[in-house]
Formats: sequence, C-alpha cells, structure tokens
Amino acid sequence: MTSVKKIVVLKGDYIGPEIMTAGLAVLEAATKDTTFAYELIDAPFGGDGIDRAGDPLPQSTIDVSKQADAVLLSAIGGPKWDNAPRRPEQGLLEIRSKLNLFANIRPTKVTQAQIDRSPLKPEYVKNTDFVIVRELTSGAYFGKPRKLEAHQAIDTMYYSEEEVTRIMHQGFKMAQKRNKHVTIVDKSNVLATSKFWRKIANEVGKSYPDVTIDYYYVDAMTMAIMSKPATFDVVIIPNLFGDILSDEAAQITGSIGQIPSMSVGESGPNLYEPIHGSAPDIAGQGIANPISMVNTVAMMLAESFDEKRIADKITAAVDYIIENHYVTPDMGGTMTTGEVTQKMVDYIKNYE
Ligand code: ATP
Ligand code: MG
Repeated sequence: MTSVKKIVVLKGDYIGPEIMTAGLAVLEAATKDTTFAYELIDAPFGGDGIDRAGDPLPQSTIDVSKQADAVLLSAIGGPKWDNAPRRPEQGLLEIRSKLNLFANIRPTKVTQAQIDRSPLKPEYVKNTDFVIVRELTSGAYFGKPRKLEAHQAIDTMYYSEEEVTRIMHQGFKMAQKRNKHVTIVDKSNVLATSKFWRKIANEVGKSYPDVTIDYYYVDAMTMAIMSKPATFDVVIIPNLFGDILSDEAAQITGSIGQIPSMSVGESGPNLYEPIHGSAPDIAGQGIANPISMVNTVAMMLAESFDEKRIADKITAAVDYIIENHYVTPDMGGTMTTGEVTQKMVDYIKNYE
C-alpha cells in the first residue's frame, strides 16, 4: 500500500514561481504512470508570505510544513521587501530552526554534458561527483558571545559534542549509499573546535568500517577542490568553512542556475531548494534557468522518497537538454524557461 506523500510548496519570489512551475511540470510528467502518489500543498512564505499573509513565515506555514513529507522551496526575497519589518530571509532562517534542519547538503556533479561549461579543464573535472555536508545550526555563525563595539568585536566559534556527532552520522550514512569515502574538513592545526571536529569524526568513523576517511585543513581543501575535484565523495565541514567552500564548489559546474540543495532535520521533513537567489534582475522575462529547480525535484524524489528511478529519469532529461543545447541565456542558449521545460517534459514522455 503506497501512501500519498505530502509536499509543501513554497513558491518563492521573482524568478521563484517561474522555476517552481517548471519543476512541478517535470515532477508531474516523471511520476505519471508510476506508483508514486503525491499531494501539493501551497503555503505562503518569504516575500510571498508577506504579501499574502503579512509575514515571511506565517504560523500556518510552519504547522503545515511540520506535517509534510518534504518541503519544496524556490528562491525567495528581493528589493520589493527591503523595508518590510521582517524581511523574507528572516523566514528562511526561522523555518530552518523550526524544522531542526542541522545539515545542508549540496551536490557538485559534472556530467559529460556539462563538462564544457566548467571553468576548469576537462581532464580536471571529469567524473566529478561529490556532496558537501555542511553543519547549519552552530559554529561561528551562532556561537555566543557575539558583540560589535566601538573598539572591539567578538564572534564565538562553538560546537557541542551532540552537534558534531549528528552531522558526522549524517555524512557517513550518505557515504555508505554513495562511494564510501568521507573527507573531514577543519582547521585543527589552529582551532579548538576543529580539533574536536576531527576527534569526533574519528570516533564516529569507527561505526562505519566500510567507509574510508581522509582529512584536510580547509585552506588545503580550497586548492584540492580545484585541482582534484573528482577524488571526493562526501565532504563533512563546519558551518563557516562550509558556506565558503560550497560556493567555490558550485562554480565548478559552471552555472549556479543548475544546482539543488537539501537541508536535513533530526526528524520530520527535509527542505529542498535551489542554491541561487531570486534573481530580480531577470524576473518576469521568462529566461530563468529551470534546471536548478528540476534538479531540486529529482533530489527530493531520491532522498526523501527513495524514488531513484524517477529521479534518474529527470536527471536524464536534464542531460538531454544540455547536450542538445536546449538551454536558457545564462548557459549560452536562446530558449525560454517554458521552452526548456517543454523539452524536458517531452523527453520524459518518450523515456524508455
Ligand atoms: P541571494 O542573496 O538571494 O543569494 P544573489 O545576489 O547572490 O542573491 P542570485 O539571485 O543568486 O544573486 O543571482 C546571481 C546572478 O545569477 C544574477 O545575475 C542572476 O540573474 C543569475 N541567476 C541566478 N539564478 C539564475 C537562474 N535560475 N537562471 C538564470 N540566471 C540566474
Ligand atoms: Mg547569494
């Protein structure tokens, strides 16, 4: 007996709704004639939340999200709400904490179809396929005390044993499902929190004897990500370093309009979203690249619903449009969001 999966849809701002429409069209096409059944629940959030419900994160959206099997979010925010009492981005920080989302996971994958778009030489990027598992709720961005005064300023880098242990388990479990290798990133030659990070990695690693581990200082890692990206599988990294390194990694694929992400909670639904912003500069022109949202949908199917075959079908459609250059202007093409989406839907209809 298969149950109907509840997917909360937070459609986003500026190009958000444009690419969400694309993502949902591909979801519908790819799940047609399968046993996967879902229900979409529209909820106000971000700028759209302010407009429709007076707040970037209305209580009703929190409630419905907590009951959901997954939350699908598009890009939010933008100049329209610059003077709002609570800005759209506030909603994002709060929904992460309400859903207890402690890990942010971003894949960096360069398929054969994408290889020419990478700023790196093909021989460097060939076979690149890794994920960054970034700690999201602690570390330098949340540690206290935190002060900005006239003649001094303080930030605190803090980690508890519990926080480090759970992110390690998350990363090692992912590695077991992937290529069974974990890279621990820190600055343990200098920082206490990093020594702690590495020590716990070592201990947790013992429960995953099938997974190999190596260790990098974050400065060395920024170089390795460029010089040998294909050697990584799962990279587990603290909040601040992860923020920086995941943007660096995104560039390897050549376009931020392609990359999905997921945030994982202790229990309850994961939250899926493209990594880019709401791109107010191109909104309303019909030229937003829908690939990021389509990849986000594929990631949700694989990770939250174990629907790997449907996800693979969608990934194949993405490869197909890139190979045939059916792409939007940011990727050097001339097609609209709608035309690119239609190409993917048509491909999926004729799949197999
Ligand atoms: P944020 O602060 O929300 O992360 P940002 O200022 O970093 O936003 P983005 O909105 O991510 O900026 O966009 C950066 C650039 O990439 C913009 O020029 C934008 O037009 C472009 N861009 C982002 N996403 C897409 C997309 N899906 N398709 C085409 N171009 C995109
Ligand atoms: Mg940005």
